[in-house]
Amino acid sequence: MNSSVRILAEKIQAGYSGGDVVKNVSCSFTTGTFTGIIGPNGSGKTTLLKAFSRVIPSSGILELDNKAVSAYSPAELSAALGFVPQDEGRAFPYSVLQVILMARYARTRRFASIGSDDYARCHRALTVTGLARLANRSILTLSGGEWQRVLIARALAQDTGVLLLDEPTSHLDLSHQVEIFSLLRSLAAAGSTVIGVFHDLTMAALYCDRLVMICDGKIVADGRPEDVMTPEKIREVYGTEVVSSFHPVTGRMFLLPVDSGFPPGISGELQNVLVISGGGCGGELLHFLFRKGYRLSAGILATTDSDYLATKTLGIPCIAIPPFSTIPAPAQEKFRNSLARADRIVFSVHPVGWGNLPVLLALREVDPARIILHLPEGRDFASFDFARGSALPVLSGLCAAGARCSSGFGEILEFLEKTKGKPEFRNEL
Ligand code: ADP
Repeated sequence: MNSSVRILAEKIQAGYSGGDVVKNVSCSFTTGTFTGIIGPNGSGKTTLLKAFSRVIPSSGILELDNKAVSAYSPAELSAALGFVPQDEGRAFPYSVLQVILMARYARTRRFASIGSDDYARCHRALTVTGLARLANRSILTLSGGEWQRVLIARALAQDTGVLLLDEPTSHLDLSHQVEIFSLLRSLAAAGSTVIGVFHDLTMAALYCDRLVMICDGKIVADGRPEDVMTPEKIREVYGTEVVSSFHPVTGRMFLLPVDSGFPPGISGELQNVLVISGGGCGGELLHFLFRKGYRLSAGILATTDSDYLATKTLGIPCIAIPPFSTIPAPAQEKFRNSLARADRIVFSVHPVGWGNLPVLLALREVDPARIILHLPEGRDFASFDFARGSALPVLSGLCAAGARCSSGFGEILEFLEKTKGKPEFRNEL
């Protein structure tokens, strides 16, 4: 499909009596695309959508299908652009069908009547939004979610090439959210230009082709979801720590808040703590120590390991290697240097096979008094040995030589705090 620009905005400014909310925004939207506008509360998303749909005036250049939006008559605009507001008052007991039919009246010339084709479009809009059985119900009796779907159905009945929606799924349960997002995606696939303001970043990333991130009335990121919704950008714009991952079925990205409930610690004197983990066993520990304020490093981790993802999210330097590879010599060398530099080494006991056995073996070269082995309660070293008994003696040997063994994060913290700034402390514990 050839895509052409349907909405063109250049240096748009718009706002209210208190001043401009949308500041100098330039962007364009082509046919056949589904764009999500995201950003924190009060950043100007709704105001931008209102400017696009001429609900509020704007300065700058704003074109719809190569014609200034200001030059459209109300009927022409209704035929070209559908707008779904966040909510709309319900003062009169109209039936659902009557409200949907209003969309057809809006786009007909004055005094022209509506015909069977208009009714057919309205019924199709009711069907695709799952409202057919409610066609004759008074809108005053609808739930918030049903009313939201009526507003979407009304815009669909307008049958426009451009559809703007302001938080169209905020009142919907999961199954209706999925239905509406799928519907919007299929409308875009059929050639429409669909732009929606969304708060649910995961759903937006799952369905939209493009995300435009707004902050303080300006576009701060614009592109494919995986390029826009990076943990760094989310931290910068939303002030929240998130971890990103990929949907196991669709491959699309999703975000989850990092908050694991660990209170921040009072970090006095900083210590270099090297965390050795793997197999997804170390993420929580990394976050715990990160929150306590230690200067962390990690390794050696495969880039497919979720522990590696944790280091990326938290900005912890990590020696990383490709998955399923033996550890290359430069990584081994870097790791030896990290061992030498670290004040303390926390080895979170994890599955050890032939591939990562050299990491464990390297610990034998380190003063065991600098090492703490974290073994989850109820587990033993043997259950982590996947190297036919080669790992077990190394782990037991480290313990016997003076490495401390802990089963809880509290013990690790106690060890790190007690030994702060003391190179030799074995006898004090
Ligand atoms: P968002 O959709 O990103 O949450 P909005 O565009 O709704 O943000 O609002 C952006 C800013 O404009 C907010 O500070 C809000 O208080 C203000 N605002 C929104 N609507 C009006 C209005 N009708 N009159 C005055 N200020 C408004």
